[in-house]
Amino acid sequence: MTERTNTKDTTCPYCGVGCGVSAKVRDDQIIAVSGSETHPANLGALCVKGSALHETMGSHGRLLHPSINGQQTDWETALDTVADRLRTIRETHGPEAIAFYLSGQLLTEDYYVANKLAKGFIGTGHVDTNSRLCMSSAVASYKRAFGGDAVPCSYEDLESCDLLVLVGSNAAWTHPVLYRRMVAAKNNNPDMRVVVIDPRRTATCDIADVHLAITPGSDSFLFMGLLAWLHQHRATDLDYIEAHTEGFAETLAIAQQYSMDEIASRAGLEQDTLTTFYQWFADTEKTITFYSQGINQSSSGTDKGNAIINCHLATGRIGKVGAGPFSITGQPNAMGGREVGGLANQLAAHMDYTPEALETVAAFWQTDNLCQQPGLKAVDLFDAVAEGKIKAIWIMGTNPVVSLPNADKVKAALQACDTVIVSDCIAETDTTATANILLPATSWGEKSGTVTNSERRISRQRSLTTPPGEARHDWWILTLVAHKLGFTHAFAYESPRDVFVEHAALSGFRNGGKRAFDISALSTLTQQQYDDLKPVQWPVNATNPEGTKRLFGDGRFVTSSGRAQFIPLQPQGPRQEPSATYPLILNTGRIRDQWHTMTRTGRSQRLLNHIDAPFVLINPSTAADNNLAEGDLAEISTRYGCIQVQVTLDEGLAERQIFVPIHWNDQYASRARVDSLVAPLTDPVSGQPEFKYNPAAIKKV
Ligand code: SF4
Repeated sequence: MTERTNTKDTTCPYCGVGCGVSAKVRDDQIIAVSGSETHPANLGALCVKGSALHETMGSHGRLLHPSINGQQTDWETALDTVADRLRTIRETHGPEAIAFYLSGQLLTEDYYVANKLAKGFIGTGHVDTNSRLCMSSAVASYKRAFGGDAVPCSYEDLESCDLLVLVGSNAAWTHPVLYRRMVAAKNNNPDMRVVVIDPRRTATCDIADVHLAITPGSDSFLFMGLLAWLHQHRATDLDYIEAHTEGFAETLAIAQQYSMDEIASRAGLEQDTLTTFYQWFADTEKTITFYSQGINQSSSGTDKGNAIINCHLATGRIGKVGAGPFSITGQPNAMGGREVGGLANQLAAHMDYTPEALETVAAFWQTDNLCQQPGLKAVDLFDAVAEGKIKAIWIMGTNPVVSLPNADKVKAALQACDTVIVSDCIAETDTTATANILLPATSWGEKSGTVTNSERRISRQRSLTTPPGEARHDWWILTLVAHKLGFTHAFAYESPRDVFVEHAALSGFRNGGKRAFDISALSTLTQQQYDDLKPVQWPVNATNPEGTKRLFGDGRFVTSSGRAQFIPLQPQGPRQEPSATYPLILNTGRIRDQWHTMTRTGRSQRLLNHIDAPFVLINPSTAADNNLAEGDLAEISTRYGCIQVQVTLDEGLAERQIFVPIHWNDQYASRARVDSLVAPLTDPVSGQPEFKYNPAAIKKV
């Protein structure tokens, strides 16, 4: 390498593993990336997506200039127009006519400023995020059980456990670096067992000692059955339950209503297989239950999360080395967004809409405009756009026309909306096509700030190259709009560091241990300290100045009683069932080498080479029943829409189940937006949609 080459550490912008990346930069270009050897999440490893990051850079396809109604303009005019429209709509229709739809791709600093502007100063609670689609059920179940949105585990627990239960997770493809850590752990520990619970046999099953191919949607039955079985076989920790929890007897009584016969039947498993799993769970102190979208993306995802947590509480396996319920987020900064209040039902710093929290946040921000009640969650929010109740929506760094359920309705709603502002780094997406005002945002490698991964670890993303065209940072765009709206005093930010230290100070403001999220020890960082910040797990406060590996190991929780809560849930199946018209069950998910709606990963030919066209996986027998063969073009329909994709036969799926990836959209293939088929049915607690279970039909085109 020549003298002109610099190496900087940053963080991968894709999945919730949050791998550290060492980027080599020469002549203002990223010429190579490798895994950061010192980052605790990945210790030098990168998956294929991360290792292709530098191949996705460049100005082609980028949104380079602001525009209004398709006409290029300058920043001053664009920001004046945004501010004027927001002001007019607020004055005419009230703040509730304005909505923000954010993204787990944003940096925490961007998220914080958006949330503060919307909730604190414009006064609208309608601030939701694509993280609603990803982990909001896991959040809701943690809050119900522990009193806070707090993941108790660390990645190294995956290496310390003796039983690893993966539920609804194809980690081999969706969280590849963590999967490699699991493989290595199993190779190093011959006693370690792995159970994979998934209706589909995926690449993750390669490390499974047992694969439980359960009936789709039966997870709560399986784990409530486990709770009853553990108690019946004296495997519950009664001392722990007595000392640290509430609600056990009531919860157990529900679990005991189901016989093993009924649980096995509901789950579609042989009793022997079920008993093997239950016995291993009972026998293994160091058990991690690792779960992801197969649990969360359900109309009862919150209950499913609590059914898992109930079993860990009953055995006292929380916050101990190699033990705990461990939800894994999909996005790189889903957790950072939660920290600043990016969800419509939260304020900031994990505060709910309680009278005390409202007073706390209003006092900290010194505002009289703070919205007083939760806003609409994603699906309801876009319904309100469709109904004309929301007159202006500002979408940042996400593509809801592809990713939301009933996506054709979302597209029509945006096309009919008075004011659609889209900040994005990509020029042509299905959502930018609906915008009145387009604002070019900086991308990974250009922007600077922090993200929080699935083990609560805050890491720096660093600016490496000069943004192309007139692209600007999201926090800067929001700050300028705040100034134009007259809120200059509260948005005196000159750098992401200014935002971060304010966010850190709010986390400790009137906290006193009431909230698990507390990074107040970072509220005094100088610019140099912020630039040099090493990855650290929250809480980071006076008690734990170096960060915190595990939570709740002392049996104290952040509920009002200080005790964890068993949730006496009644197991539920999916809300829709197959019918004569729609006899199949449609499941959706990711493939190995693409990310979200392909706006970034679709720029790398190497990544496209893995799988370059949309497809449906189908069992050979079900394919034959429908007159389909490998490579045929098939039309898949639900009552919400239809798409056309190629058939791929796969014996890993049970009969009458099909799987379609989420990534393809109208930019890459016509009629391939699978979320246009998904019902807008949501979990009643979390608002997360049921992406994993939709009755569908298939036929040859
Ligand atoms: Fe990036 Fe996730 Fe791959 Fe790590 S595992 S390199 S965070 S996509």
